[in-house]
Amino acid sequence: MPVADFEVVMGLEVHAQLLTRTKIFCGCSTAFGGEPNAHTCPVCLGLPGVLPALNQRVVEFAVRAGLALGCEVKRKSVWARKNYFYPDLPKGYQISQYELPICEGGGVPITVDGKERVVQLVRIHMEEDAGKNVHGVAADGSSGVDLNRAGVPLCEIVSAPDLFSIDEATEYLKSLRAILMYLGVNDGNLEEGSFRCDANVSVRRRGAAALGQRCEIKNLNSFRFLRQAVEYEVRRQVEVLEGGGRVVQETRLFDPARGETRAMRSKEDAHDYRYFPEPDLPPLVLDDAFVEEVRRTLPELPRARAARYQRDLGLSAYDAQLLTAERAVAEFFDAALAAYGAGAEGAKKLANWVNGDVARLANESGLAPAAWKLTPEKLAALVKLVDAGTVGGPGAKQALEAVFREGGDPAEVVKARGLAQVSDEGAVEAAADAVLARSAAEVERYRGGNTKLMGFFVGQVMKEMKGKGNPAVVNAVLKRKLGP
Ligand SMILES: [Zn+2]
Repeated sequence: MPVADFEVVMGLEVHAQLLTRTKIFCGCSTAFGGEPNAHTCPVCLGLPGVLPALNQRVVEFAVRAGLALGCEVKRKSVWARKNYFYPDLPKGYQISQYELPICEGGGVPITVDGKERVVQLVRIHMEEDAGKNVHGVAADGSSGVDLNRAGVPLCEIVSAPDLFSIDEATEYLKSLRAILMYLGVNDGNLEEGSFRCDANVSVRRRGAAALGQRCEIKNLNSFRFLRQAVEYEVRRQVEVLEGGGRVVQETRLFDPARGETRAMRSKEDAHDYRYFPEPDLPPLVLDDAFVEEVRRTLPELPRARAARYQRDLGLSAYDAQLLTAERAVAEFFDAALAAYGAGAEGAKKLANWVNGDVARLANESGLAPAAWKLTPEKLAALVKLVDAGTVGGPGAKQALEAVFREGGDPAEVVKARGLAQVSDEGAVEAAADAVLARSAAEVERYRGGNTKLMGFFVGQVMKEMKGKGNPAVVNAVLKRKLGP
């Protein structure tokens, strides 16, 4: 495969919707969905004679993102008109930032194959979203335009061509998404398009210094599509080059149904948009006090939190990374640990639950922590029941599942469902007797020196007791009965 002779070089442009209640230049709602064109007014409809008024919250959120990503926050930035003609853009231009964006530089930390590095950013700028063309909605099959999204605030985060594999690109997106979600400026929802990405992809022969010609791929609204699209595009570009051709700079659209990218239009250069400063908005000037105030309110970010979990709680890098990938999950863990009350001692136990069965149930149900019926306090209570020997491992898993799905108090669930662990020696002895009576051959081999069979006997007794036997008691009873 000639692909191995080539290196992929990528830069990503992420459009992240800023989580303000209202749009960037008017008071319309930013809520997703709703009747087409319900969230519109003369400003976002682009009617003549109206003026945009900047939503200060948008600036605050962009500065939050910039500070968290180590960017230089510009004290003066300028709004620009990006002119193009498309039905979903009623004004005929998009208000964006061009020559002087709000943030420059900075980077996004990634870890790939255990190696940490920072992917360089070029800039972050603010802009308004466009509307959406909707095809075939009317009875006659005609198309319509929905402008609910027109004027929804975005920040565009542009990386340098500093990503050299699909794994790096995926990690970059995950890390950036987690940071924006920690900051509370973006909901990370790829499906609804509030976190979306275009990829600039080029290839060059290994060892070559110059960058190859790049293509921009649009419409990447899942991690899986990013991977598929980039893999396809790399193969395509390598084939073009190996065939003696040259890659043409263009914008390509990813088609998820066919797993292919296809040419959409020849790539426009900046001058095609005839950018010029927006005459209806003054330059945006920030003072140091505002920037410092935003800095003061930055939360602890995922990597800092993971480092703290390793340092203070003795958790492994793997556990810490899983727990901190989403802020809501990390907060759930913190609250559960506080309710459990045993500091580092309980951390490993709770991490196992949260990263194990709780994560599995969350994935299966598709529910975010806020919607779980399992609260941190209930998880802590369940772990204490295990500590006390009231319920064993298998019973606790069943109880967790019940509480996760239906709620309820763990102690009551254990009782009501008959999940309590049996520590009563008489009951364990009865089960052990039944097992030993039907396992004469194994008993003989055990007594002949094959002590590894203890595992077999324990398993059989646990099975006999429907998983509820107290393992310590089961072991003790079996040892006594089998004798030395
Ligand atoms: Zn409006």
